Amino acid sequence: MTGTLTFDDLKARVADGTIDTVLTCLVDMQGRLMGKRFHAVNFVETSFKETHCCNYLLATDLEMATPEGYASTSWQSGYGDYVMAPDLSTIRLVPWLEGTALVLCDVLDHHTHEAVPHSPRAILKKQIKRLETLGYDAKMATELEFFLFEKSFDEIRKEGFRNLEPISGYNEDYNILQTTKEEGIMRPIRNHLFAAGVPIENSKGEAEAGQEELNIRYSPALDCADYHSIAKHAIKEIAWQNGRAATFLPKWHKDRVGSSSHVHQSLWQGEEASFFDEAGQHGMSGLMGHYMAGLIKYAPDYTFFLAPYVNSYKRFAKGTFAPTKTVWSVDNRTAGFRLCGAGTKGVRVECRIGGSDLNPYLAQAVMLAAGIKGIEDKLDLAPATTGDVYEDAKAADIPQTLRAATQTLRQSSFLRSALGDDVVDHYTRAAEWEQEEFDRAVTDWEIARGFERA
Ligand code: ADP
Repeated sequence: MTGTLTFDDLKARVADGTIDTVLTCLVDMQGRLMGKRFHAVNFVETSFKETHCCNYLLATDLEMATPEGYASTSWQSGYGDYVMAPDLSTIRLVPWLEGTALVLCDVLDHHTHEAVPHSPRAILKKQIKRLETLGYDAKMATELEFFLFEKSFDEIRKEGFRNLEPISGYNEDYNILQTTKEEGIMRPIRNHLFAAGVPIENSKGEAEAGQEELNIRYSPALDCADYHSIAKHAIKEIAWQNGRAATFLPKWHKDRVGSSSHVHQSLWQGEEASFFDEAGQHGMSGLMGHYMAGLIKYAPDYTFFLAPYVNSYKRFAKGTFAPTKTVWSVDNRTAGFRLCGAGTKGVRVECRIGGSDLNPYLAQAVMLAAGIKGIEDKLDLAPATTGDVYEDAKAADIPQTLRAATQTLRQSSFLRSALGDDVVDHYTRAAEWEQEEFDRAVTDWEIARGFERA
């Protein structure tokens, strides 16, 4: 794989002048890259050890507001610093920007240098470690769906996000003719990411006008989350470079299909696929049954991490390929969980609940935690459902609103024990704040409905 650099490679490229800038980034609660642009000489001489950021970066919303109610930081405690510790195994080129490399950082307490427990990378690392003590590694793949629009982010913002025109005029699911018209953006996305060490499989048109999907080869869980975050960032930047906008808002129009981020999951012992048993039903091992049973049982507890905003819940609509039920099925796209690769070494479970707005570190962490709980408690997997699961009255529902998902999160003894009370309280506060902000908003819908007729 090209694209990733050792620290020595980076130093050599800084010395010969091919790299002059190092983006030094953490991943925030929303899954965004936040950080500083270092002069590369400063980075390789000193800042590779650590740099600092305001600790509000893990306690803001999308607008960078500073809500009250977080135990970790506040105006009262003076919003101090975190340490950003570059993970030198993540250094890579940023081929779509001139002379630029990127490194991801772990977030540490300023005084103790312990990992900050509610940092997304730390949350995922903790669950990976728990899985390792059971003797397994997780391999994951997160699909990225998004919409491309004709105009740029800046034009769209200045026009008040009105009259949004997707880049194509028709449903482009698997459509080669339409996706050829979009190659000006999608080809650099694939090739630049590949050259940055992100193992791109393919892109394809999705089931709505202007909708795209990018697939990345399944990888160890932490790599998968790193790839997802970098890819999402690259898609927005490359769209911007081309005068277009890319949105990961799950539902940008009430009559259009929403965007998902399906998560494919399997457990391994070295090269041994631990989910595969030739003799098992559909080639599934007993271990896979327990893991899936945990995933399904605890889906309501962790839905917030797959659908973190008010808008996320608008995606869960019948007949749109977005699921509404926490059941599993074999190669059936109407269920929350789909068995893929039945009967082969590639047998895996795909969770279809997550929206394109999920934070991949948090989403993978909570699903690993649920799978681990299923394995530890030897939970039995119910039989697969068949047919149109949307109409299955017996199947359990996914929480239908952010308010409902916040309640299941707050009360989840499973998540409290897997992630820690401090982490659950932190994200519960983030969820509450998002709802409070929405409840204060006066929407276009209310104005249009009531302005004259109320
Ligand atoms: P589909 O056509 O249904 O989207 P793909 O064959 O394209 O399915 O695979 C979707 C994703 O699943 C890809 O990102 C792929 O790398 C990933 N994947 C394949 N095998 C595994 C596995 N054993 N564990 C986890 N993910 C996997």
